[in-house]
Amino acid sequence: MRARDLERYRREIGWKDAPLLEVAAPPPSETLPESGDLDSLAREATTCARCRLSEQRRNVVVGEGDPHARVMFVGEGPGAEEDRTGRPFVGQAGLLLDAMIFALGLERRQVYIANVVKCRPPGNRDPQDDEVAACAPFLDRQIALIRPLLIVALGKPAARRLTGSAAPIGALRGRWSSYLGVPVLPTYHPAYLLRSPLAKREVWQDLKAVRKRLEELASGTGEPSTGSSLHP
Ligand code: URA
Repeated sequence: MRARDLERYRREIGWKDAPLLEVAAPPPSETLPESGDLDSLAREATTCARCRLSEQRRNVVVGEGDPHARVMFVGEGPGAEEDRTGRPFVGQAGLLLDAMIFALGLERRQVYIANVVKCRPPGNRDPQDDEVAACAPFLDRQIALIRPLLIVALGKPAARRLTGSAAPIGALRGRWSSYLGVPVLPTYHPAYLLRSPLAKREVWQDLKAVRKRLEELASGTGEPSTGSSLHP
């Protein structure tokens, strides 16, 4: 999506007042060295059969974006369109995620987008605990390789995985925690926003908190992370 289209989309969803974030953009991915380890992770994931989700998938949706991204988004799992294309967040929810990224003053190519499970749960059901656990080593390696400044957890499965809490997403959103030493902020999933547009107000609050934390971390004035907790 071009910047002008995103600007229009942002106005349409009511984020017209959001100023662009004055955070130095990371260098474009093209100028960065290849991340061999992410490539081998992707090769491994492509042949993974650690859980039942491998049986019906068309494609493994490993993740995409800048391997040196400052911000990482973690969603739930691929939907039909993602399963078909092998790319995360390319359906309707993806358009809204693009707008959320843009509200941070960033573009999609400057962040990294992954999911807690890399294969589509049938009928778009929530991934089950054993499926999340089977896929967790891939997500943990992605986080360890990318070392983002912060992670935005989108929706309940990502929030639960990355905070270690089984609380409802309504209680987890907007509250910082830490995963593998990286600050994590859960917020509502963009697919939920499509069904409940009023929740955009809370997501906007969360994105403002992300912008603030990102500015602090990027300028070296951020609070030290709350530890290197790994949940569960
Ligand atoms: N929803 C998700 O959680 N992830 C995707 O990649 C697409 C939709």
